[in-house]
Amino acid sequence: MSASLPVNKIGEPEPSRDLLAYLRLLAGPSPAPGRFFDIRWTTGEQRMSRRFVPAQRTSEAAHLIGRLASRADVYVGVALSDGQRDGTKHAISGSHMLYIDRDHSGMQRDLAKFEYPPTMEVASGTPDHLHLYWRLHEHTPSQQVESANRRIARLLGGDPACVDVARILRPGTLNHKHDPPRPVSLVAYRPDAHYTLAELLSVLPALERSPARAERRAREHRRDDPLQRVKPAHYIRLLTGLAPGPDGKIACPFHPDSTPSLHVYDTPERGWACYGCPTPDGKPRGGDIYTLASMLWGIPSRGPGFIELRARLDDVFRVDRDAASRWRAPRASERGRPWGRAREPDRAQPQLDRGR
Ligand SMILES: [Zn+2]
Repeated sequence: MSASLPVNKIGEPEPSRDLLAYLRLLAGPSPAPGRFFDIRWTTGEQRMSRRFVPAQRTSEAAHLIGRLASRADVYVGVALSDGQRDGTKHAISGSHMLYIDRDHSGMQRDLAKFEYPPTMEVASGTPDHLHLYWRLHEHTPSQQVESANRRIARLLGGDPACVDVARILRPGTLNHKHDPPRPVSLVAYRPDAHYTLAELLSVLPALERSPARAERRAREHRRDDPLQRVKPAHYIRLLTGLAPGPDGKIACPFHPDSTPSLHVYDTPERGWACYGCPTPDGKPRGGDIYTLASMLWGIPSRGPGFIELRARLDDVFRVDRDAASRWRAPRASERGRPWGRAREPDRAQPQLDRGR
């Protein structure tokens, strides 16, 4: 693979064929006017920018992504947006794509359990982290997409929190969570692998109906979450800028608090709680790292907001979600500068090897 992206006459990187193929797959064979790619990218200060590009203009979207990718993490809504209002579920009527996000090894073994190979396999740039996509013949309503995603995730070990129809994933670009950035690669592409929803569903396990089991699964998943292992004193300091005193308290950022009353506990399980600003049902306001970030940043910790919340927390805490064991705490020099140092634009060619 060459070491630099091909450039056009004005020195812009030319989008790779694989990026175009990816976007064409998301757009579908004949995208209706009024349907848009939802393209988002990281900017400094824990923010994301967004642009909607008509799904009919694949090449324009690819050029935009190519330009952004040298300096930012770029994401695309897997489902097209029906309009340019927002990137929530309300703007999405459904999709012709099913997808899961898998972050551990053993994929070939798990895929052997499923007779329908994915249309596309994208490696996110972190070892063992794959995004798998199945192309459907038909545009499918959001609820059915999410239910099918959940069932595939269940069968193939996908992240159950990453099945929503407003999911944004990485196209073939660069993953800047690594230094130097690593290519996001299309590792397999089967353009003829199209399925009906019915044929996929016929071989997928039913979803668990038992709330207790679902709750246990969610808890187990939480235990695997590197963010849930960050000590409260550390995340409180990083997110609020306030250091707990000897009594383990800080001045609460959510109510006027002259005598520090927000308790910072020792373990991630206990988290934090403020007795000075109770919730409507009379309990102290508190929770975990997500609850705190959600309140500080005004991003919902449920539904589509959760994905953005978690992505932003991952960046603040330099979480390598794809390989939890390789997670490290921010260095002292990075505190308060969640994005680390500004990087030179990276010219590395995204490695878009096909087949395997
Ligand atoms: Zn309070």
